[in-house]
Amino acid sequence: MKYISTRGKAPVLNFEQAMMTGLARDGGLYLPETIPTLSPDDIAALAGLSYEETAFRIMKPFIGDCFTDDEFRDIIAKAYAGFGHAARAPLVQLDSNHFLLELFHGPTLAFKDFAMQLIGQLFQASLKRSGGHVTIAGATSGDTGSAAIEAFKGLEAVDVFILFPHGRVSEVQRRQMTTPAESNVHALAMDGHFDDCQARVKDMFNDFDFRDGVHLAGVNSINFARVLAQVVYYFSSAVSLGAPQRKVSFTVPTGNFGDIFAGYIAKRMGLPIDRLVVATNQNDILHRCLSSGDYRPDGVVPSISPSMDIQVSSNFERALFYAYDQDGAAVAQLMEELSAGGFTVSQGALQALREVFDSGHCSEAETSATIRTLFDTTGELLCPHSAVGVKVANELRDADVPMITLATAHPAKFPAAVEAASGQHPDLPTRMADLYDRSERVSRIANDLGAIEDLIKDRIAK
Ligand SMILES: *Cc1c(COP(=O)(O)O)cnc(C)c1O
Repeated sequence: MKYISTRGKAPVLNFEQAMMTGLARDGGLYLPETIPTLSPDDIAALAGLSYEETAFRIMKPFIGDCFTDDEFRDIIAKAYAGFGHAARAPLVQLDSNHFLLELFHGPTLAFKDFAMQLIGQLFQASLKRSGGHVTIAGATSGDTGSAAIEAFKGLEAVDVFILFPHGRVSEVQRRQMTTPAESNVHALAMDGHFDDCQARVKDMFNDFDFRDGVHLAGVNSINFARVLAQVVYYFSSAVSLGAPQRKVSFTVPTGNFGDIFAGYIAKRMGLPIDRLVVATNQNDILHRCLSSGDYRPDGVVPSISPSMDIQVSSNFERALFYAYDQDGAAVAQLMEELSAGGFTVSQGALQALREVFDSGHCSEAETSATIRTLFDTTGELLCPHSAVGVKVANELRDADVPMITLATAHPAKFPAAVEAASGQHPDLPTRMADLYDRSERVSRIANDLGAIEDLIKDRIAK
C-alpha cells in the first residue's frame, strides 16, 4: 500500500513512513493511493467479533507488510486494553432509529483515545525496530493533547510537546495534559486560539532544518494512522445495526474533519452508509462551505464545545482531494487561496461533496437545550460536542434509516457546561477521580515560532 500527498508533490511512502512523517513535505496530507474495499460477505463476517478483531480486519489492508499479523494484533490489543468498557465503543439507543455511539471510554474520556492509543503502540513498535528517537509536536483544542500525552508518556524513544491555547481549554482537559509526571511530557500553554497553535505546528513541519534536526513527528488528526483507527467504529456500529443488509447514517460533531473523514473512508471501503452528516457548533465554516461552496474563515468565537472551535479544518483538504478527482495541483491552488483569505469550491467538486455529506449547525442555546431535553427524556447526559451532534441528527435524520450519532466526549470532561444546561453534575469515572488533586506542570509560551523551537531544542538536549 502506497501513500500519496493531497498536493501531489511529496515522496510516495509506505504506511509506516507516512505515519512517522505526519505532514507531507509539500504541505499536503497523506492518503492511500487506492482505498481497499471489503465485500458484503467480509462485512457480514464482522458480526459478533470483538472490537480488537474488527480493528485488525479493517486496518490490515492499509498497513501492508509494515507489521506482521502477530505484531499488529499485539499492538491493537495493547492499544485498547486501558479502555473502561468491554465493548470499547458501545451503542446506546436514544429513540426509535436513533443511536448514540459512546466513544468516550478511553483513558482521557474522548474519542481521540481510539486513534492515539493505537498510534502510541505503533510508534513504539516502529522505534523499537529502528532504534530511533522522535519529537512529537501537536496542537490541541483540548482533547488531542491529553490523548497524545496519555498514549506517549513514559515511552523512552519519544518526547511529546503539546501546544494548547492558554485559557481556552476546560479545566479537566488542562489537568489531563499538565498532571502526568513523566519527564518526556511537555505541555505548552500558548497565547492565541487553537488555529494559532495548529499554524505554529505546521510552521515547525515546514521548517525542514528544525524538523530533521529534532526528528519531528506529528500525531495531529492529519496523521493518516489516526483517521484509519477511527474507521473501525463506523464498521463495528453499523454491523451491530444490521449492515451490510441494512444502511445506516452517521452524524458526527466536527471540527477538523478527521472523525467524519474516517466515515467517508468507511463508505468508500464498501460500508453501506446512507448519509454522513457534518454537525458544527457556532463556528460553522464547514456547514457554510457545504451549503454555499465558499470556504472563508472569519474568526473563531469560543463556545461550550471548545474542541470544535476551529475555522481551519485540516482534514477537509482530504475530502477536497477526492472531490477534485485526486488532482493535487487543484488542491494546492485552493490551499494557496486559503492563505490569502479563502476559496470557492468548484461546482463539480461541491456536487461530489454533497453526494456524501449533509450538514447542519447548532447554536450555544440549542446545545444547552439538547443536553437538558435528552437528559429529561432518556437519562443520558451528553457532553456539549455530542449534543451538537444529537441536535443536528434530529433535524436531518430520515425516520427509515438508523442514525448513529457519535458521542465524542464524556460529559465529565465539560462539567460546567453540562451542569449549567441540565442541573446534573457529571462525575468523573472513579479511575480518574483524583485528577483535581494532582499537581500541574506547564510552560507558558508566546505565539512565536522561534521561541517554541528553542524551547523544544533545549528540552530534548537534556
Ligand atoms: C476533536 C473533537 C471533536 C472534533 O473532531 P474532528 O475529528 O476534529 O472533527 C469533536 N468532539 C470532541 C469531544 C473532540 O475532542
